[in-house]
Amino acid sequence: MRLIGTSLAAGSETQLEQLRRQVAYLEERSPFYREKLAAAGVGSAALESLGALARFPLTTKQEVRDSQAAAPPLGRHACVGLDEVVRLHASTGTTGSPSWVGLTARDVETWTRLTAESFRTQGIRPDDVVVHAAGLTLFVGGLPVQDAIERIGATFVPIGTGASEKVLGAMRTLGRTVLHSTPSYALYLAEWLRERDVEPRSLGVRKLTCGGEPGAGQPAVRAQIEEAWGAPVTEGLGNADMAPVIWGECEHQVGMHLTGGEWVYAELIDAEREEHVPWETGVEAELVYTALERECCGLLRFRTRDRLRVIAMDCACGRPGPLVRCVGRTDDMLIVLGVNVFPAAIRDLVAELRPRTTGAMQVVLPQPGPRVEPPLRVEVEVADGSVADELAERIRGRLTIPVHVEPVPPGSIARSEMKTALTRIEETP
Ligand SMILES: [Zn+2]
Repeated sequence: MRLIGTSLAAGSETQLEQLRRQVAYLEERSPFYREKLAAAGVGSAALESLGALARFPLTTKQEVRDSQAAAPPLGRHACVGLDEVVRLHASTGTTGSPSWVGLTARDVETWTRLTAESFRTQGIRPDDVVVHAAGLTLFVGGLPVQDAIERIGATFVPIGTGASEKVLGAMRTLGRTVLHSTPSYALYLAEWLRERDVEPRSLGVRKLTCGGEPGAGQPAVRAQIEEAWGAPVTEGLGNADMAPVIWGECEHQVGMHLTGGEWVYAELIDAEREEHVPWETGVEAELVYTALERECCGLLRFRTRDRLRVIAMDCACGRPGPLVRCVGRTDDMLIVLGVNVFPAAIRDLVAELRPRTTGAMQVVLPQPGPRVEPPLRVEVEVADGSVADELAERIRGRLTIPVHVEPVPPGSIARSEMKTALTRIEETP
């Protein structure tokens, strides 16, 4: 087995050389970084070790947006013009307007290699047939995933979203397939099939590779997907501005390995204090990326707003640690009586009580968070109304927040074929 990357805790000489080269390149080609680094009094000459990167300023998504507004289309942070760009993707813009992500021919090759590494780690082999039931258009999880699956030598079936009939047709005629989708879609499709009297397990899916949102890494939600399909689930994690899939979970299913470490340097920060946090088992902090090999838009210490939990620092497979899960986006976090709560964690507790719940839930807020007046209102689809009190007790016990669980009938919470909205703002009459 080819083992990739090095221990993140230690870093490597190669990464340090790449980083020096990348920072020098940004100083030369990117007006945004030339000014930002000079203002902070740091630069490529100050990089005596990887640890020195912690003194460099962070880059936010808002800065990327402002940079593109100031110098459209690629922005003041970009190092090349459109003439050298061979493809444009767009970041999804969940927290604002989307921004362009330009790729040179070399950037496309880098993305292909690092995305393929995640799918190899997730167990995709040349004889696999991968049914891609996720976005295919501007989305970075579309064409770059195609490139990666084809690079492995597996078969890529580009179905896209909103086409469950086509997914069913592919699964029926192509033999043992791999389903690649969001965890929401894997659950949605299972329900959709059962409504048409098709048992998902009868379709012979070999495995599911999920990403795009938290869920596939949460124990009870994962169990729900694996039971429905009779196949193992692994997950990947990437970032639209950095690279499509930078992490991948191996067959031991403990957490995700940093499979893109040859091209992307990953670190953790305390989201409030904006200070570097070391990789250690049990730590929860915000993920920050630095591109090591990027020609068009290399970002330094880019804040993902993804909150990671470090599960372990080594793995039985022999690949280096850390092993991580994404617990949610900082933007989704709620604060109830001073306690940080991720709606995804509530969903996992709801899924634990299946089949008395369907697993579907939604947090209902009187106004946008993060601060919420207690008790937190949670709508939960139940088959058995008596489960509501038990669930409220379980949420109070595990998450230490007061909640009010409102039972609603199965099927009454909107399903999503892409990413599930676990929170909604109450409509005022
Ligand atoms: Zn492993």
